[in-house]
Amino acid sequence: MKFETKTIHAGVVPDPSTGAIMTPIYQTSTYVQEAPGVHKGYEYARTQNPTRNALENNLAALENAKYGISFSSGLAAMDAILKMFKPGDEILSTNDLYGGSYRLLTKIFEGFGLKSRFVDMQNAQDMESNFSPATKLLWIETPTNPMLNVVDIKALVDIAHSKGVLVCVDNTFCSPYLQNPIDFGADLVTHSATKYIGGHSDVVHGCVMTNNEEIANKLRFIQNAAGAVPGPMDCFLILRGIKTLHVRVQRACENASKVAQFLKDHPKVSKVYYPGFTDHPNHEVAKKQMRLFGAMVSFDLHENTFESAKKVLSNTHYFSLAESLGGVESLIGHPASMTHASIPKEERLKVGLTDSLIRLSVGIEHIDDLIGDLDKALS
Ligand SMILES: *Cc1c(COP(=O)(O)O)cnc(C)c1O
Repeated sequence: MKFETKTIHAGVVPDPSTGAIMTPIYQTSTYVQEAPGVHKGYEYARTQNPTRNALENNLAALENAKYGISFSSGLAAMDAILKMFKPGDEILSTNDLYGGSYRLLTKIFEGFGLKSRFVDMQNAQDMESNFSPATKLLWIETPTNPMLNVVDIKALVDIAHSKGVLVCVDNTFCSPYLQNPIDFGADLVTHSATKYIGGHSDVVHGCVMTNNEEIANKLRFIQNAAGAVPGPMDCFLILRGIKTLHVRVQRACENASKVAQFLKDHPKVSKVYYPGFTDHPNHEVAKKQMRLFGAMVSFDLHENTFESAKKVLSNTHYFSLAESLGGVESLIGHPASMTHASIPKEERLKVGLTDSLIRLSVGIEHIDDLIGDLDKALS
C-alpha cells in the first residue's frame, strides 16, 4: 500500500456492528464479560480500546513499523520510552533538543538515576567518541528546533548499533510523510502527534512505532502499567487528521519553500534557516532522508535585537503568534522568549539562537496571503 492510501485505509475497517465507515468513538471505560474471563478481547479501557487500536495500527503502517503504541501526549510517549531503562543507563541526545524533552530528561529522569548527555550530532564521524559503556539509547531529533539542522540518521544508526546502542528518532518535525527513520535502521520512532499528524491544533497526543517485538511488548506493558493513555475522542481526532496528512504536509512544504525564498531575498533578513536551500550545511543529508524539506523556516534580522523581532511578531495577521507547529494554520514564534527561554543566553547564542531569531510553522493558506503578510510585517 502506498503512503497516501495507508493514511486513509491502514488499520481501519468499517464498524462490524453497523457498517459505519468511520471508526466509532468507543467512549467507554469497561466492557461486559459473559462469564469470568469470557470476553471479546476487551476488559478495561486503559488496557484496550477499539478506537485506539485502529489508530495504533494506522500509525504503525505510516512509519513502516509492525507496532504502534499511543499515549496522551508526545512527552508521555517519551516518558514511556525512558521507563524501559535503568538507573545508571545513559541517554545520548542532541544539544538542541526540544525543550520539553530536555526538561523530562534532566528534571525528572536524572532524579531516578538515568543519566543524559547532550552533544552536537551534525557531523556523524565526530560522534564515535561520545558513546560511553553506559550509553543505552541514542535520541535523535531532525531537523532540529529552531535552527533546522539536519542529522544523518543512517550514519548515526550504524555507529550506535556497532556499539549495541538503541536508536530512537523524534520524527515530529517531519511527520511520517517526509521521513521514515525505521527504513534507515532506527529501533524506535516517536511523534508528538499534536503537531503534523493531528494537524488541526485541536488535540494533544503522542505515539511510538517500532518493528522490535520485545520493545513493543515492554512499551505496551508500560502503557498499561503507568497509564498515560489517550482518550477515545482524542484517538478519533488523530485518525481523522491523518486522512489528509499527505495532502496537508505536501502543501505546507510547497508554501514553506516559497516563504523561505521570499525571506532570503528580503533586505531586512540576514539569514534564513531552511534545509531546502542548496547552501544549507546539511542539504545533501536532507535530500537523502527526507521526501520534501519540511514546512518549518527560521530567519534572523539584520537589526539584531528583540525589539526588531517584536515588531515583526506583532504585525503579522495570518501568522499567529503561538507555540506549537504543524497545524493547517501558519504560526510565528520567538524562540528566545518562548520555546527556548529556559536556555542560558550564552548557550543560545553559540548555536545561532539570537534575540532576533524568528521561527515559522508554515501552514496551508494561499501562498500570496502568507507572503503578503510577512512583507507587511517586515516593512
Ligand atoms: C511538541 C513536541 C514534543 C512534545 O509533544 P507534546 O505532544 O506537546 O507532549 C516533543 N518533541 C517535539 C519535537 C515537539 O515539537
